[in-house]
Amino acid sequence: MADLLTEKIEEHPASLPAERVLEELGVSAGRGLTSGEAARRLEKYGPNVIESTSREGVLEILWRQINNPLIWVLLASVLLALVLGETIDALVILAVVVANTLIGFMQEYRAGKEIEALASYVPDETLVLRDGGREMVPAAELVPGDILLLQAGDRVPADARLLEVRGLQVDEAALTGESVPVSKDVEPVAEDTPVADRTSMVHNGSFVAGGTATAVITATGRDTELGRVSAMLEEAQEVETPLIKQIAVVGKWIAVAILAVALLLLVLGLFRGFPLADAVLAAVALAVAAIPEGLPAVITITLAIGVRSMAARRAVIRYLPAAETLGSSTVICTDKTGTLTRGEMTVRQLWAPGSGETYELSGVGYAPEGELSRNGERIEEVPEPLRELLLAGVACNDSELRREEDRWRITGDPTEGALLVAARKAGLTADEVRELRPRRDAIPFESERRYMATLHGLPEGGQIVYLKGAPEVVLERCEPDAGEVLERAESMAGEGLRVLALAARKVPGELEELSEEDVEGGFELLGLAGMIDPPREEAIEAIEACHRAGITVKMITGDHKATAAAIGRQLGLLEGDGPVLTGKELDELSDEELIREVERTNVFARVAPEHKLRILKALQARGEVAAMTGDGVNDAPALKQADIGVAMGITGTDVSKESADMVLTDDNFASIEAAVEEGRRVYDNLRKALTFLLPTNVGQALIILIGVAFFPVVGGEALLPMLPTQVLWVNLVVAVALALPLAFEVLEPDAMRRPPRDPDAPILDRILLLRTAVVGLIMSLVGVGLFLFEYGFRSGGIEAAQTMAVTSIIFYQIFYLIECRSLRGSVFEVGLFTNKWIFVGIGALLLLQLAFVYLPFMNFLFHTAPLGAAEWLLAALFGLVVLPVVDLEKRWRRRAESGQAGPR
Ligand code: ATP
Repeated sequence: MADLLTEKIEEHPASLPAERVLEELGVSAGRGLTSGEAARRLEKYGPNVIESTSREGVLEILWRQINNPLIWVLLASVLLALVLGETIDALVILAVVVANTLIGFMQEYRAGKEIEALASYVPDETLVLRDGGREMVPAAELVPGDILLLQAGDRVPADARLLEVRGLQVDEAALTGESVPVSKDVEPVAEDTPVADRTSMVHNGSFVAGGTATAVITATGRDTELGRVSAMLEEAQEVETPLIKQIAVVGKWIAVAILAVALLLLVLGLFRGFPLADAVLAAVALAVAAIPEGLPAVITITLAIGVRSMAARRAVIRYLPAAETLGSSTVICTDKTGTLTRGEMTVRQLWAPGSGETYELSGVGYAPEGELSRNGERIEEVPEPLRELLLAGVACNDSELRREEDRWRITGDPTEGALLVAARKAGLTADEVRELRPRRDAIPFESERRYMATLHGLPEGGQIVYLKGAPEVVLERCEPDAGEVLERAESMAGEGLRVLALAARKVPGELEELSEEDVEGGFELLGLAGMIDPPREEAIEAIEACHRAGITVKMITGDHKATAAAIGRQLGLLEGDGPVLTGKELDELSDEELIREVERTNVFARVAPEHKLRILKALQARGEVAAMTGDGVNDAPALKQADIGVAMGITGTDVSKESADMVLTDDNFASIEAAVEEGRRVYDNLRKALTFLLPTNVGQALIILIGVAFFPVVGGEALLPMLPTQVLWVNLVVAVALALPLAFEVLEPDAMRRPPRDPDAPILDRILLLRTAVVGLIMSLVGVGLFLFEYGFRSGGIEAAQTMAVTSIIFYQIFYLIECRSLRGSVFEVGLFTNKWIFVGIGALLLLQLAFVYLPFMNFLFHTAPLGAAEWLLAALFGLVVLPVVDLEKRWRRRAESGQAGPR
C-alpha cells in the first residue's frame, strides 16, 4: 500500500495548491468519486484501518496471573513438598497451579479481546461526497480521493488536504500531544514543514473542535501519519474494575492470614508429636484449602458475560468498570431529542406574519405527503408569505431528503429534515431552492448559539441572509420587535412542539463571508414552524422501570421550557407544572443553591453543554451515582465527569463516543435502562459466585484444623481428613464446574424493584461473612463426621475415609449451589429451570467425581479409593443438610430486613 500522491509526485500534498492535489487525485471537489471508482481504489489501497497490536502484552497478562500472593503461597507449598520427598504431591500441586494460571490467562485474554472488539464495534461513519451526493460511509471504506465534509465533533478519519474551511479548529492531541486546538486553512505550507505545523492538512485521529471544512483524502490506514506512529497510541484498556481491585486487596490480606495460620498449624502439629513431614504437609494442606483458587477466573468470566449481554441489548461498554458501576447508578440524566423521543421531527404548524391564523400540515414521518389546512379547511394554493417561510427553511438547511426503495430518509439534522419535508408537501423542492437562492456562505447550527444563518444570491441581484433558530434568539434580531409573536411561539411550545423562527435580511452584493456580526440585527421575521417529535413508547416504560428501581430520571434538553415541560409530562417525568429549570435560571443559582434544587427538578430546558457539567457536579455532591448522556462536541467534559458517560452511537459525534464509558447503538433511552438491569445482574452474579466459593475455603481449612488439633497420631503418622491435593481438587473442580454456571444466572425477579446498592458498600459485607462462617462450619462437620464414620466404623482405610470426606463436600456444594442461585429468595422464586448451565455443571462435576473415586490413575494421583453405593448415598444425604440451614438463614434475614428501613 503506497501513498497515492508520493507514488505519482515528489512533493507533499500539504505544500501543493488544493487544485493540484485534486487534479493529482483525479476527483472533482463538487461531486466526489463515483462509487465504482471508490470500490476500485478500496481494492487497490485496502481498507482504511490501522490494525492495533494487542493492547496489553501477552507476557504482562501472564505475569499478572502469577504475580498473585496466593499463587506464591502455592508455589512455596510445591517446594516444601519436594524437599520432603512428596514428589507426586508436589507435581500435582504444580500441575494445578499451571493449569489454573493458564485458564486465568486464557479467560482474561479472551475477555480483553472481546471487550476490545466491542469497543471498536461502535459504528464509525463519515460524511463524504460520492456520485455528486452526500453519503455516510463506514470509515474503513474511505479511499484516497474521497471528499470529506467535516464539522465540529467529527473525528478526522484519514489524512486529507483542506479544500475549504470555515473557522476550522482541530484538536491534534492524538498526533502531536498538543491539547490546544489549532486553526487550519487552505494555504499551502513550505515543502519540509513538520506534521504539527502542516496547517493545510488534517490528520487521521484528530478531532474537529470547531468550524467546518471540506477536504480531500490523500492517505488512508497505515499510510497516514497516525498509522506511522500508531504504536505510540495504544491506549491501555483497563480491564481491572473497582471490584477486582477490592478483591485483590482482600486477597493480599487473606494470603497473609493464611500464612500465619499455616505457621501456627505447623507448630501445633509438632507440639502434638507429628513427624516434621506430616506437620508441614498439614500446613500446606491448610494453605491450599483456604485459597480461593478459582475465584479470579470466575470474576473475569462473569464480567465478560455481562458485557456481552449488554451489547446484545444495544449498550456497548467501552470501559469495563462501567459494567459494575451501572448497577449502582441512582440518577440517569438524559437528552430528550432522539433518546426519549423518536427523533423524527414532523412540522405540524406554520405561521407567517400577515397570514393571520396558524396553518396546519398533515402527514407523518419523512414521507412528503400531507396537506395544508386552516381551521379544518384544506388550502390548495400556498399563500405567498408561507411560501417565503418554507423557502427560507429549505435554503438555511444542511440536510438532505432522499427516497430509498420504499422509504423516505434524511441525512443530517432531523429538525432540518422536517423543514425539507414540509416544503416538499407544499411543492417546493431543494433543487428548486438551490436554483433560486444559490448559497454563498453559512454559519452552521450550534447548540450554544441556537441559530443557523446562510448567505444567498438573489435572482434580481444583491444578496439575502436567512436566519433560523430558537424563537427568542431570532426575534431578538428582528425589527420591529415582536413580543406578540413570542407569545404565539410560547403557546405552540406549550403543546409540546419544537418551535423554530425564520427571518431574512437583504445585504449588499459585495459581502463574501458571513460572520456573527452580520447576523446581529436588522432582520425581518418570516414566520414560525412548530414540529412534533413524539416520545418513544419504550422510553415511557423504561422510565417507569427506573422509578420502580429507585433511579431518578432527569431530562436535560436544549429545547424550550414549555416544549420540555409538555414532553416531560407525557414521559411521566413531571406532574402538573412541576419544577422546570432553564439554563438561564441555572446561571443565577449558586453552587449550593443548585445542589438543593437539583434534587427536586427533573426537567432542565434551554441548557447548554456547560450546564450539564454543573448539574452533574451538584448531583455528585449529593452522593448520587450519575449516568449522563451526550452527543455533541461540547458534551465531552460532562461525559468524562459522569460516573457513567453514555454516548449516542448513531447521532453522536466521534468526540462524545471517545469520551464515553458506554455507547448506545440505537440512541434509545430504553437501552440505558436495559444496561442498568444487566449491571445489577452482573453484580448479583458476582456476589453469588463469592457466596458460593468462600465457604468451601473456610470449610476445608476447618477440616484440616480439626484434624491437626484433635486427630490421633497412628503408628507414627498423622491422620489428616484431607490431603493438599484432594483439597485442590475440590477448590478447582468445584469452582469451575459449579461457580461458572452462576455467571449465567437470570435477573432476580426483584432486582429492578429494590433501590440501587450503595457504591461504597464492601462486597464482603456482614451478610456474606456470616453466611461463609455458618456454611463453612457445617461443611467441616459433615466432612469430618463422614471421614470418622468411614475410618472408624467401616474401616475402609485412610484413603477411603479421605475419599468419603471429599465426596461429601462435593454433594454439600451441589446442594449449596442451588441455594446460591438467589441471594435472598428461595430458588423457586428464580425458577428451578431458568439456568440450564447449573445442571450442565452438576452433571460434569458428578462425572469428574466418579473418575476421582474409581479411576486407578486418579486413585494413584490423589490417594483416593473406590467407594460403595451406600457411601455415595450417605454422602448425598449428609450434603442435604445445607438446604434447611441456608433456608433458615435467608428467612431470618428477610425478617430482620423487613423490620428496618427500606431504601437507603
Ligand atoms: P436535546 O438536548 O433534548 O437533545 P437538542 O439537542 O435537540 O435537544 P438543541 O439541538 O441544542 O437541542 O436545540 C436547541 C434549540 O435550538 C431548539 O429548541 C431549536 O429552537 C434550535 N435549533 C435546533 N436545531 C436547529 C437547527 N438545525 N437550526 C436552527 N435552530 C435549531
